[in-house]
Amino acid sequence: MNTSIGDDTNAASRSALRVAALPSGAGLRFDNAFVRGLPGDTSREPRPRQVHGALYSRVDPTPVAAPRLIAHSAEVATLLGFSADAVASQAFAEVFAGNALLAGMQPYAAAYGGHQFGQWAGQLGDGRAITLGELIAGDGLRYELQLKGAGRTAYARSADGRAVLRSSIREFLCSETMHHLGVPTTRALCLVTTGEDVIRDMFYDGNPRPEPGAIVCRVAPSFLRFGNFELPASRDDLALLNKLIDFTIAQYFSHLLSAGASAADEAVRGAWFAEVCERTARMVAHWMRVGFVHGVMNTDNMSVLGLTIDYGPYGWLDDFDRNWTPNTTDAQSRRYRFGQQPQIAYWNLGRLANALATVFASHDALYAGLQRFVDTYVEADRSNIAAKLGLAECTDEDVESTNALYALLERGEIDMTLFWRGLSDVDLDSPRLDCLAPAFYDDMRRDAVAQPLGEWLRNYALRVRRDGRSAAERRAQMHAVNPCCVLRNYLAQEAIDLAEQGDYRRIDELLEVMRHPYDEQPGREHFGARRPDWARSRAGCSMLSCSS
Ligand code: AMP
Ligand code: MG
Repeated sequence: MNTSIGDDTNAASRSALRVAALPSGAGLRFDNAFVRGLPGDTSREPRPRQVHGALYSRVDPTPVAAPRLIAHSAEVATLLGFSADAVASQAFAEVFAGNALLAGMQPYAAAYGGHQFGQWAGQLGDGRAITLGELIAGDGLRYELQLKGAGRTAYARSADGRAVLRSSIREFLCSETMHHLGVPTTRALCLVTTGEDVIRDMFYDGNPRPEPGAIVCRVAPSFLRFGNFELPASRDDLALLNKLIDFTIAQYFSHLLSAGASAADEAVRGAWFAEVCERTARMVAHWMRVGFVHGVMNTDNMSVLGLTIDYGPYGWLDDFDRNWTPNTTDAQSRRYRFGQQPQIAYWNLGRLANALATVFASHDALYAGLQRFVDTYVEADRSNIAAKLGLAECTDEDVESTNALYALLERGEIDMTLFWRGLSDVDLDSPRLDCLAPAFYDDMRRDAVAQPLGEWLRNYALRVRRDGRSAAERRAQMHAVNPCCVLRNYLAQEAIDLAEQGDYRRIDELLEVMRHPYDEQPGREHFGARRPDWARSRAGCSMLSCSS
């Protein structure tokens, strides 16, 4: 069924925003299954409150002063059915700044809770994210279009509902980069500046300052998080929890519903949880492969579709360091450090299992699901090791030797991306460190590991020879998993610095480079270079706060 604003039964619940028309936008079809199929809040007021008995609150975006489109992903626009004309129109900027709607949109904010830094935090919810509607694209698939920074909602608590340009650029660029790296992720349609300032105390040190505001439109089949299930469970609202589980399975996991099966069957629900565990394991294994640190793996930032979601104070490893986290808020305990991400994902799944346990008669399937996480992660990690090293398979000795390599990369302060990419160029007949030279940050640290790393390379050469495959095959395998470039923290920061001065061109340039992260790109090699010295300890390049 097609729904539209005009379909709202209660006149008082209609949107006050005007409906905009896009050039050649007539074919866009919205089908808002979430609001149609699930109970919502009775009030549309963006007044902070506890919302009970409902999974979302209808709310309009708050209009902004001067919407201006500064970047978009042409691929996502095409996927969704927005023509180039439509994207270029002022109506497009108005809609994706929250000043107008397209026919069929029914904006809402979702209710969820979450465990933050290991503690139950109660109701959180979309405090500044507003889903506009679910678009059925030309490929027949369903895409939720969600604005981040679109104004206050029932879940905004004391915050302003807005987002700053710097963090919006980071989310826009990183989600697209992750997609092109082959990491499951939400995507980004566009980035709009609002013409309004937002006050932020970037380092929570008593120095608030005005910053330009912006809004990202992000896109995913669904933004449902572990926390959407935890909240009704925490309130013992099992009827609501059951509705959400049934809806989620029917809508996004319908392949689990064989003939005659119902989403209410415990066997189906068990299979669903196991699939969430499996997808989460694969996602985190990808993060570990490319050196991505999420930074805030709270359960409200974990997608039940196994997508990387909510790009906040994330970061990319330059020198390989399992202890590193970009998030200054987590600097003390380093709960969300790079090397701990698989364990945290498992812990988070445990919280989801606890929530689901309230409606499972037997908990066996939940334990089995958690075991599925472990098995999937171990298998995915091994296949990553094999591919990154260019081997047909990964043996126990290869796992050991890779762990030894990790320790050397840390001791030698060696760039992760450059090391792995460079490894395919090492001459196996006489393995030397030369072609890895660009990966070193510090001569003394390099000298300290030169001998053991040289030995590691000689053993590696012997191991590859035993594998007996052609050099070309090995190289192709390695190049498909070891990128030339990733969205290094300083690259995003340079784009931000320019954008804050009104020059947005670097955003497009980075987006273009990151569309082909596994390809050598002549003339653009500098985007793959190691972090420059100036960026070693600059805010935004090596440390980020949650303030966004
Ligand atoms: P995050 O750490 O960004 O995942 O956000 C945690 C919670 O705080 C979520 O419920 C967000 O919606 C909410 N939140 C963060 N920033 C804001 C803001 N500026 N206005 C309203 N809510 C916010
Ligand atoms: Mg979040």
